[in-house]
Amino acid sequence: CGIVGYVGNKDASEVLISGLSRLEYRGYDSAGISVLHDGELTVKKAAGRLKNLEEKLQEEKVHGHMGIGHTRWATHGAPLDKNSHPHNSNNGKISVVHNGIIENYMEVKERLQGLGYVFYSDTDTEVIPNLVDYYYSGNLLEAVKKAAADLKGSYALGVMALNEPDKIVATRKDSPLVVGVGDKEYFIASDVPAVLNYTKSFVYLNDGEFAELCKDSLQFFNQDGEQIEREVTEITWSA
Ligand code: GLU
Repeated sequence: CGIVGYVGNKDASEVLISGLSRLEYRGYDSAGISVLHDGELTVKKAAGRLKNLEEKLQEEKVHGHMGIGHTRWATHGAPLDKNSHPHNSNNGKISVVHNGIIENYMEVKERLQGLGYVFYSDTDTEVIPNLVDYYYSGNLLEAVKKAAADLKGSYALGVMALNEPDKIVATRKDSPLVVGVGDKEYFIASDVPAVLNYTKSFVYLNDGEFAELCKDSLQFFNQDGEQIEREVTEITWSA
């Protein structure tokens, strides 16, 4: 299972597929991407090999400069198209990829259902985009912080908002996530090799930290929401 994310000037679909193929060694049963394309967070996903997703993308091309991608190792819900990530909020305004397990997802799901949210998958993950949407009032980082505070379990998350183009918010707890630092482009990935062909500079996100990646800025925050400085590690080996 793995996560990739991209914000910059390149074609996001290409970067995401390249990254996911380099994460195949981690094992997975389905794959998907979400790209800001034509004013929508467009999701393409397919159960089975990455090749299935690539074939789908040949027929239904998505072009954009920001996106998140995922290879899934199912823990909650069978490996079907509908359970593959990314998952969008009901209104299509928040898109999420998640590695890990949300232990209290039932409780969160019931709370969201009480607020009128509808669920289409059998995953624990689907509560996250809707919870972020519930807290969203124009600032994705703030909404993800509030949502994360409600979640129990393990997660590496990549989150995008339709209303904030060129921005990805990432956080992690007991699941790996790194941030790749490029020139006017940034990446997230489960592991360094995923995007080592694009950059050799990385920040290893610590548990409970948040990263806000924009096209021309990168900021880090601790659990209390305070901005922090994170050291960049230069990778000297190649994949
Ligand atoms: N628990 C999530 C699911 O089953 C994420 C699994 C993963 O880490 O790939 O969809």
